[in-house]
Formats: sequence, C-alpha cells, structure tokens
Amino acid sequence: MELLKERILKDGSVKEGGVLKVDSFLNHRMDISLLQEIGKEFRRLFPQPEINKILTIEASGIGIAAITAQYFDNADVIFAKKTKSKNLDGELYSVPVFSYTRGIPFEVQVSKKYLTAEDHVLILDDFLAHGQALKGLMEIVRQSGAQVVGCGIVIEKGFQDGGQLLREQGVNLKSLAIVDSMDNGIIQFRE
Ligand code: 5GP
Repeated sequence: MELLKERILKDGSVKEGGVLKVDSFLNHRMDISLLQEIGKEFRRLFPQPEINKILTIEASGIGIAAITAQYFDNADVIFAKKTKSKNLDGELYSVPVFSYTRGIPFEVQVSKKYLTAEDHVLILDDFLAHGQALKGLMEIVRQSGAQVVGCGIVIEKGFQDGGQLLREQGVNLKSLAIVDSMDNGIIQFRE
C-alpha cells in the first residue's frame, strides 16, 4: 500500500532492537484518514462475505479493527484483553503470548460469549515480528471452534521470521507494507 509506505518513510523512525516507531500516525496519535484507507485496503484483500468477526489485541489493534469493520457488511470487533479485570467475567479462552515490545509473557483472554464455532474471523494487528501475537489470536479462534478466514497486518517486518513461518503453515496472511530491512536506520520495503 503506497500511501502507507510513504508515511512510514516520512514519519517512521528506527529504534534499537529492530523496533520501528510509528507513534505519530498509528500507535499513539492515530491518523484517521490513513486508517480509513487501511480499512478499505483490508476489505479489498479480504472480500469473503462470511467474515462476521474481526479479532485483534489491545491496545494498538483496537483502532485499526474498529475503523476497518466499517468497510465490512456485518462484522463485530472483538479485542483480546491482556489483563484480567473485574469486567472480564464468565468463561474465557486464554493463551500465553510472549510480548515483543515488553519482553515478557502475558496471558491473552477473550470471553467465550463473544466467539463461537459459527464465526468466521478476520484477525488484524498493527505489526508482525516473530508472530507470537498472531499465533496467540489464532489459538483463541481454534479453542472457540470458529474459522480463521485470514490475518491482516499493517506493517510486517520481513527480516523477522513470523511472516515466513505462518505462510509456510498455510495461513492466509496479508500485510499492507513489508519492511525487509532497517539497517543503519534506512527503511527498505519488499516490492
Ligand atoms: P510478534 O508477536 O509478531 O513478535 O510482535 C507483534 C506485536 O509486537 C505487535 O502486536 C506489536 O504491538 C508489537 N511489535 C512488534 N514489533 C514492533 C515494532 O517494530 N514496532 C512497534 N511499534 N510494535 C511492534
């Protein structure tokens, strides 16, 4: 997606540890007009009419999923929670996920009320690095008996192994921008 790549080049910055910072338009301040274009692109890439749930993970996935859902005919957004709170009651699907940015494992949870075996799920997230978050979300869908129709990622870091591993497993994974290298702070995209 050219508009996204241009924005990454203009406003993204490369941090230590292979981290791309895009706080000014995606992860902290959210550029809604860009997010609308991202939502339309996800709709174009995932035209399957059976999609009725969009599953993501808090926090950065929520805005992306909520805006994207407006371009689908009838899709609810569900976000997996990272902390157990009094608001999360009843039976839960639960999986451990290792956090790329925090460097620690945490439990990801979704209420069984909101995901069932009849659902057809599009999973969305902001970044794909080693694939831990996506694998956790796919495991939650597996526990529910629902079908994963596809996984959509805004920015995939192609120099980390998550994308390749998931595609080799046959996951219908589509990324709007794939960064192939960030050596010396220079961002290069896959064609
Ligand atoms: P993974 O689970 O694929 O290893 O990492 C993906 C998760 O870690 C995403 O949910 C995202 O929040 C975070 N993440 C991974 N790499 C980056 C990065 O370079 N920049 C930012 N802002 N977040 C990242």
